[in-house]
Amino acid sequence: MAKIKMTTPIVEMDGDEMTRILWKMIKNHLIEPFIELNTEYYDLGLEHRNETDDQVTIDSANATKKYKVAVKCATITPNAARMTEYDLKEMWKSPNGTIRAILDGTVFRAPIVVKGIEPCVRNWKKPITIARHAYGDVYKSSEMKIPGAGKVELVYTDKAGEETRELVHEFDGAGIVQGMHNINLSIESFARSCFNYALDIGQDLWFATKDTISKQYDHTFKDIFQDIFDAEYKEKFEAAGITYFYTLIDDAVARVMKSEGGYIWACKNYDGDVMSDMISSAFGSLAMMTSVLVSPDGYYEYEAAHGTVQRHYYKHLEGEETSTNSVATIFAWTGALRKRGELDGSQELMDFADRLEKATIDTIEEGKMTKDLALITTIENPTVLNSEDFIKAVAEKL
Ligand code: NAP
Ligand code: MG
Repeated sequence: MAKIKMTTPIVEMDGDEMTRILWKMIKNHLIEPFIELNTEYYDLGLEHRNETDDQVTIDSANATKKYKVAVKCATITPNAARMTEYDLKEMWKSPNGTIRAILDGTVFRAPIVVKGIEPCVRNWKKPITIARHAYGDVYKSSEMKIPGAGKVELVYTDKAGEETRELVHEFDGAGIVQGMHNINLSIESFARSCFNYALDIGQDLWFATKDTISKQYDHTFKDIFQDIFDAEYKEKFEAAGITYFYTLIDDAVARVMKSEGGYIWACKNYDGDVMSDMISSAFGSLAMMTSVLVSPDGYYEYEAAHGTVQRHYYKHLEGEETSTNSVATIFAWTGALRKRGELDGSQELMDFADRLEKATIDTIEEGKMTKDLALITTIENPTVLNSEDFIKAVAEKL
């Protein structure tokens, strides 16, 4: 069989630990036998990030601007323990944070729904897609430890040198302070990606913040969404028979739990980080959650929502067998290949992505799965496969 050709490369961002092992297996068994894979490779593994002073992360994001489509493996975000484990020069920032800051845009996360893996929340009948704002707030904040008594203020200096001050706190003793920001342009593109995506997939859009407490910061998010909706999307939504619904974040959480699903839930950056883990594990498994960063300029970066599965990696290093779920990482590849096909007008590539997704889902629905799914499936007597055998089973199906 002739391999499928790719005219334009996709940006390949390799990563860390167990997902790096899966990455290679997926390429070996599921991609390279069928496609003449054309990628521009960037090694975002922590060792190489450290060697390049994290320049490789910036380069990979810039390459995504050039080629428009990237696929990313999960990567370690360094913390104190990783500093010693990898003998790091610096506590490098989260690669996802760096990439998002360069590309801007919105992250859409949706569970991969499979028969036999039923959501914990019984009334959820349809997937809930989380749209996470991918810029600013606590991910781009400055923080200080306040050693003792003193005054902390916010100071804005305009171009003419005029200062505006706002007291944060008069400290009597030691404490902490954090300054964060967002940009209207970014919030506007977040709003537009959400409204466009809702129209694309024909689902209602929910948005929530804490505007009652945060009367300037969160309220600005609420106002920008409403203004753009009224000016540009109201009629389109009516024509499509979908709605835009704004509420407070705590009210949204309560409503989500009682809903049927089948809508997009737009979240500020931190809410999206937290809520997507809640949604994905309640839908079955963190390993069944897809993630795509869509920039306002039409750049796409596909990845799994889970991390590097460190615990499994350490077992793997000790020579123990692992049963790590590769489904979301497979879907990151299919997402990127399908989008590449769409942009390059390659039906073959798009069809291949569909077939690989179907082969993956069929394998699970026939009862062959990794341990995390076997523990929660309603299928009787599932066959539990190790990391590589699951990928091989998908390859056979394919
Ligand atoms: P994690 O890698 O998502 O894993 C947490 C736990 O969830 C695992 O120990 C495992 O549970 C289960 N799990 C997650 N993915 C799985 C899969 N594919 N198959 C089977 N089980 C899976 O989160 P973490 O352990 O908190 O973080 C590890 C590293 O990943 C950290 O260094 C963090 O910085 C990084 N991280 C990266 C990204 C990213 O690049 N997008 C996102 C999140 C975290 P059991 O151990 O119970 O089997
Ligand atoms: Mg997270």
